[in-house]
Amino acid sequence: MGSVQIVTTILAFAITAVAVWLAVRAVMKMVAVIRLGQPDPSRTGDKGTRARTMLVETAGHTRMLRWGVVGAAHWFVMVGFIVLSLLVLEAYFEVVSPTGGLPLIGGWAIYGLVTEWLAILGLVSILVLIAIRLRNRPTRPGGRSRFTGSTMWQGYFVEGIILAVLVMGFVIRGFKVATDHFEYPVWATPLSHAVGAVLPNWEAGVSIAALIKIVISMTWLIVIALNVTMGVAWHRFLAFFNIFFKRDPGADVSGLGALRPMTSQGKPLDFEEADPEKDQFGVAQVEQFSWKGLLDFSTCTECGRCQSQCPAWNTGKPLSPKLLVLSLRDHAYAKAPYLLAGGGKDLTGEEKATAAQLAHVDVLALAEAEKPLIGTAEEGGVIDPDVLWSCTTCGACVEQCPVDIEHVDHIVDMRRYQVLIESSFPSEAGVMLRNLENKGNPWGAPQNTREDWTKGLDFEVPRVGEVEDFEYLFWVGCAGAFEDRAKKTTRAVATLLNEAGVKFAILGEGETCSGDPARRIGNEFVFQMLAQQNVETLNEAFEGREKSKRKIVATCPHCFNTLGNEYGQLGGEFEVVHHTQLLAHLVATGKLTPVQPVDGGVTYHDPCYLGRHNRVFAPPREVLGKAISGELTEMPRNSERSFCCGAGGARMWMEEKIGKRINVDRVEEAMSTGAKTVAVGCPFCSTMLNDGVNGKDAGEQVEVVDVASVLLRSVKPEQAPGGTDTERLPVAG
Ligand code: SF4
Ligand code: SF4
Repeated sequence: MGSVQIVTTILAFAITAVAVWLAVRAVMKMVAVIRLGQPDPSRTGDKGTRARTMLVETAGHTRMLRWGVVGAAHWFVMVGFIVLSLLVLEAYFEVVSPTGGLPLIGGWAIYGLVTEWLAILGLVSILVLIAIRLRNRPTRPGGRSRFTGSTMWQGYFVEGIILAVLVMGFVIRGFKVATDHFEYPVWATPLSHAVGAVLPNWEAGVSIAALIKIVISMTWLIVIALNVTMGVAWHRFLAFFNIFFKRDPGADVSGLGALRPMTSQGKPLDFEEADPEKDQFGVAQVEQFSWKGLLDFSTCTECGRCQSQCPAWNTGKPLSPKLLVLSLRDHAYAKAPYLLAGGGKDLTGEEKATAAQLAHVDVLALAEAEKPLIGTAEEGGVIDPDVLWSCTTCGACVEQCPVDIEHVDHIVDMRRYQVLIESSFPSEAGVMLRNLENKGNPWGAPQNTREDWTKGLDFEVPRVGEVEDFEYLFWVGCAGAFEDRAKKTTRAVATLLNEAGVKFAILGEGETCSGDPARRIGNEFVFQMLAQQNVETLNEAFEGREKSKRKIVATCPHCFNTLGNEYGQLGGEFEVVHHTQLLAHLVATGKLTPVQPVDGGVTYHDPCYLGRHNRVFAPPREVLGKAISGELTEMPRNSERSFCCGAGGARMWMEEKIGKRINVDRVEEAMSTGAKTVAVGCPFCSTMLNDGVNGKDAGEQVEVVDVASVLLRSVKPEQAPGGTDTERLPVAG
């Protein structure tokens, strides 16, 4: 070993020792913070599916590849990071000796070939990612960036380090070529040989370049170890765990559809026995999230994909799902020293720690602990109430997140505490909640008018109890029963089912609200009250039938989601379909035959709770494909990336005072297609988009109608029955 190698070896191992020590300390800190969360036993079952999903999602980059070039570039960087770690390891042999290499595989042509090409592709990919970050920088003129609010230096730092490490890999190899210590053939390692051709024959160059590579790599490790909230770097390790522990490992997208039940100490809360002084009602302190919640916050890469799709953020509201997650993360880590010292408030608000326990806690951590989780800037709150209440629970953030963060569950958990304990929520929603409690529907309509929509139909609508052999229970929903426009859809669906000879029956006055708006605003108590009542009624209606024969058809995607995905939590197992699914089936099997196509251009708006939350994208399009002339015109934001109408998450019953109205934004997009008809599959979307059209005074140019009404007009053009909202649809010929 020459004098150069003695120096390079000492320096390499010294900086590595410091970096590893700091990294171990950082990992221990991170684990300790995550362990502060509440237990969640639901995250560890079915390990086989979890492991498979984690491998498919990470190795296949299934989410990221939806983002085209950036997904592919990220894949090469990720694979490069894993495989090329071997080259960093190899550098430790090279600081010791210019001829050094990895034992066993060092010198093997295949190893040389694979690492060479991964490094070349990694180099190109990281340059692409840097260019994309620069092009989308928040400070660029015009437009909103998905990186707004992200810690930009961290992104550039991580990308710069990767670039530098890759470059140094070629410099080391180049010096080995130049000094004739390189064992790989030109065909396997062409770039290394090209670099070697321009470098001098300098043996010390190998060891010095290897030292530089190690210093760069260890600088990265030291910086991230000193910044445990640096998600853009830490996600490389945490993403595997976050995906493994996701809520629904077998589902297309986890964290959508059903909400998590309200839990205390990891157990679902039973309101018959729950006690707010002993049981946790929602989340009021950051440590009341489950450990998976804290892992979610730690894993965020700050990529901003969620933000770019969020309807609230895109219409000028203060909510960005990314910034919400970052605020919770930063708060959790800043408060952690206080919590780890034994601090924290019990459920009555009393401090748990003694003065002696808190004596050595940093004043900043003590100050952080005093911040209310939900509060305005003046109150020093972590999350502003306007942020919390801007969410429509549309799920676009969850859908986009490459590391499976479950934003909607966290938002609703915080709402639960605000509603149930603080009674703090937008006051206008109070009327809706009172109506649900007293009348069983959000409008406060008398229960005995639930069947009024049947009046005037030229056939009898059967009721459960009057007929035994119904195949489908037609769940009408509150909107379908009481809201004038939705009633027309209900009548259209009933007419089509009758036309197709489907045996169906309604509950009539036996039906109450599914509980969706109560649950999504955070009032789990009212949700459970309504849901239990409905589960009882439905179980009675289907008594003696196995699950596959307990079929329900619903026109409202919120009811469809709640009955199908959430009633199971309360003992109600049913086969629930949306009316567009049933209608698509009836058209495909020839039970309904469209005879006169609807003309004038039709576009389709995906309701969030039908599409994104439940993956029903094709059936409404299949129905429209048969019922209209020409092709369906898609809006730029459609299917998984559909833009919310603004009504979900109980926003239907709240005023929209900040920013542009979401429904207006969506209507403008629909109108930009030139379509005369905007087809929908949800009574709330129908209301919101109709309001948007009226707000733009565009009622004469474009009409918003349900898919069922489009189909009915095409199936029974001569009838065009009054009260089914088909009258104005233009027909061909
Ligand atoms: S659910 Fe929708 S509205 Fe709520 S934060 Fe996510 S993207 Fe935004
Ligand atoms: S998409 Fe996920 S990882 Fe990216 S910023 Fe949003 S929450 Fe973080």
